[in-house]
Parts: sequence; structure tokens; C-alpha cells
Amino acid sequence: MLVLRFLNVVAPAYFLCISIVTFGLQLFLFIPSMFQDPSANPLFSSALLHGVLFLFLSANALGNYILVIQNTPEDLRAQEDLGLTKLVAPESEEGGNGHPGSVLPGTHFCRLCARVTQRHDHHCFFTGNCIGSRNMRNFVMFCLHTSLACLDSMVAGVAYISSVLSTSFASPMAFLTLLPNSISQFFSGALPSLEMFVILMLYLWLGIGLACAGFCCHQILLILRGQTRYQVRKGMAARARPWKKNLEEVFGKRWLLGLLIPMLNVGSDYHRQKEK
Ligand SMILES: [Zn+2]
Repeated sequence: MLVLRFLNVVAPAYFLCISIVTFGLQLFLFIPSMFQDPSANPLFSSALLHGVLFLFLSANALGNYILVIQNTPEDLRAQEDLGLTKLVAPESEEGGNGHPGSVLPGTHFCRLCARVTQRHDHHCFFTGNCIGSRNMRNFVMFCLHTSLACLDSMVAGVAYISSVLSTSFASPMAFLTLLPNSISQFFSGALPSLEMFVILMLYLWLGIGLACAGFCCHQILLILRGQTRYQVRKGMAARARPWKKNLEEVFGKRWLLGLLIPMLNVGSDYHRQKEK
């Protein structure tokens, strides 16, 4: 438990450090170096388009990150008092984990958050929060935009390294041999520490980008099947209903707007009930 609590503090700090470093490199190194191209049109230059794209992706990633934390797992007893939920028998076939508060279908009591989550999926260490019915949409959007921001930073970093060090990335082996070659050049004093740092960040962005993209695809697959990660782990059956309904429950009716700006799941049953 102590290790999990430690991870719950270290992982968000790690995420924030990577975000600050990425912002710094993009805004003070990659984008200014793109503006130095004398042949580019200053109004529609690739540097300006890249800057706008990076700010859009990172604003969405950070906005959804904040919304995941803000939409903490609901206190089911408080909801019951408001008449929003109805507690069912603990012996329900898809019921909770035996904790007094986990009597709603698909609920789970998280010892780290010390709360009960409705339609619990998993505990996310990077946000230090449980992912459930209230913040699932923001979590998927956070994964999507983080993976795109990482891949965007990787492309910008590759462009920067190839222009500064005159390295060609045309060969498919170039990216694989870049790290060992750079390390040996760095220790022999031929490679400055800033460029070495950017090369290390390229591999970190690739790793985080691929991991977030894989996580996002797996999560969307589970949503389409109407299942949560917790239900898969416990061997619970998926809900027998159309995939469109499952998708609408998580992303709401205004799903397209949610892709463009960080917003709450206004179309979900929970928020509709709350509005009434
Ligand atoms: Zn939790």
C-alpha cells in the first residue's frame, strides 16, 4: 500500500516534469528554429502552423487532465441522499467488491482514493485518481491528445536534430542507431549536452506517445463492448446492448465538440439526472 501511495505522488510529478520540459523545448527551441527559415511566408509558415497545432494538442491534454482530477469518483451515499442513485442489493450479479459502499452494479471501492466509483475502470497513477463513469470521457481525450502531442514533439525534435547536426533520417535504421551513436559522441565531447538531451527526449516522446495511443485504443474498444477494465479483470459479462448506446453513454451527444475543447460529458445519464 505504501508503494502504491508513493507511486500516486511520483507519477503525477513525473507527468508535470515531462510536460514542462516539452513546453520549454517546443516554445524556446523547436518553434524559434523553424522561424529562422528565410524562404518561408511569415503568415502561413510551417513554424506558425506547428506552433498552433502544438498549443491546441497540449491545451486539450492539460484541460482533460484537470477535468479527470476535478471529476473525482462520486460519493454514492451523497448521491443517494439527493435521489440521483438507488442502491441495489449487494448480491447483485455484477455487483461491487463487498465493501459497504460498493453495492451499485460495476462499482468498486478504491483504497487509495478512499471513495466508491460508479462503473469503475481502473486507478490511474498519473492523475492520482480513479477512472469511472464521470471522468472516462476526459481520460480517453487526455490519452488521445497526450499521444498526439508527444508524436508532434517527436517530429519537431527530429526536424531540429536533422537541421542542427545535419543528420539524415531517410534510412529506417537511422532512428535505431541515433541513440548509441549520440551517446558515444557525447562522451567523446563531439555532441553538445543540449542536443544529447533532445535526442533522449525523442525516445521518451516515442515511448509515451505509443503507450498513450495503445491505452486509448484499448479503452475505446472496451467502451464499444460496454465493459470496463475492472469488469474484465473480475470476469464479469459485458452489457448486451448496441455499441452506439455504449459510445453515447461515455462521450455524450456532443462528442465532436469534446474532441476540440476539454469539456464535461454533458450528454451522460449522470449529468442529465443531476440537471433534473
Ligand atoms: Zn482510486
